[in-house]
Amino acid sequence: MTLDFVHTTLAQRVRFAAGRAAEGVAAEIENLGATRVMVIGSQREAALVDAIAELVPVVHRETDVVMHVPVEVAERARAAATDHGADALVSVGGGSATGLAKAVALTSGLPIVSVPTTYAGSEATDMWGLTSDGNKRTGTDPRVLPVAVVYDAALTVGLPVELSVASGLNAMAHCVDSMWAPRADPINAALAAEGARALDDGLPKIVAAPEDLDGREQMLYGAYLAAVSFASAGSGLHHKIAHVLGGRYNLPHAPTHAVILPHVLALNVSGSPEAERRLSQAFGASSAVEGLAALRTAVDAPRALRDYGLREDQIADAAAAILPVVPESNPVPVTTETLEQLLHDAWEGRE
Ligand code: NAD
Repeated sequence: MTLDFVHTTLAQRVRFAAGRAAEGVAAEIENLGATRVMVIGSQREAALVDAIAELVPVVHRETDVVMHVPVEVAERARAAATDHGADALVSVGGGSATGLAKAVALTSGLPIVSVPTTYAGSEATDMWGLTSDGNKRTGTDPRVLPVAVVYDAALTVGLPVELSVASGLNAMAHCVDSMWAPRADPINAALAAEGARALDDGLPKIVAAPEDLDGREQMLYGAYLAAVSFASAGSGLHHKIAHVLGGRYNLPHAPTHAVILPHVLALNVSGSPEAERRLSQAFGASSAVEGLAALRTAVDAPRALRDYGLREDQIADAAAAILPVVPESNPVPVTTETLEQLLHDAWEGRE
């Protein structure tokens, strides 16, 4: 086989430090030589922000974190960074907190040190998103990639099991979709497969024992690999579908991914023997579809789009919106009928 591809690896420092997030942030801020730090994190993160402020020169705390980064929230945070003369940003929280830090970095170029508390993976990508008037704009820019990430599994122990499952399957979707996304290559596929293995290992541990640090750490490790592979491979069919459903009908981000994933896998894997080989191995199962199904059963995964607000009469409209954005790289042909069938199965919760 001839290898013929161009792969970009994003430059970022990654630190795993269970129970030592504040110390990890302090080390990264010292590395940067920053002396005026703005910390972005909701009130939920106040205790960690206090601990960081003991070790790091914090000039401002931004607590107004809103899902999908509304433009007016971003503008207030940008003004605060300027008013306080910030020279670095620290984000603490899920994808929403990371997203707000990215919005500030996008216009200011300030470096971000990110401390994630979910498995969304935004900390390892150069993608940003901003919402205005109900429309989410996304883009990529090297300025929004955090310069350093501090993973502390102890911070994720409080993430409720249901949210952990949805968020963990959101990460799994990054791995699976990387197999056939527009820039899929053997390097990001290898990272995605190892990510899928780690997530498959960690998620049932969390369901069995939510305070199990080993499971939580596996999930952060898997979520990181998932995001790295996704950032490198780009959005495949799964992400195109989830983006339309989330943006058009305001469905919740992580559960929507969790519901759609088995349907996209079942459709696409028939046209991609390479994905079948890598994912069945990662799951330790006789097939990729069976491996994902076993995981979903073990963790009682979200099943039906109708439980998350999609109406049956919106399926045709959704299929029409998805069809023009189906990537050319998709391993099987996709028609309006394919999409309507897939969405209907996902709406009903048919596995
Ligand atoms: P989120 O950040 O909105 O968090 C979900 C909820 O969980 C919030 O109420 C939050 O306060 C709470 N929470 C977070 N961590 C917790 C913890 N450890 N314990 C208890 N509660 C906790 O949701 P998310 O799924 O992490 O992120 C979703 C957002 O991130 C979306 O806007 C999505 O588009 C974006 N995203 C962006 C990228 C990217 O590359 N740019 C990648 C993935 C997701």
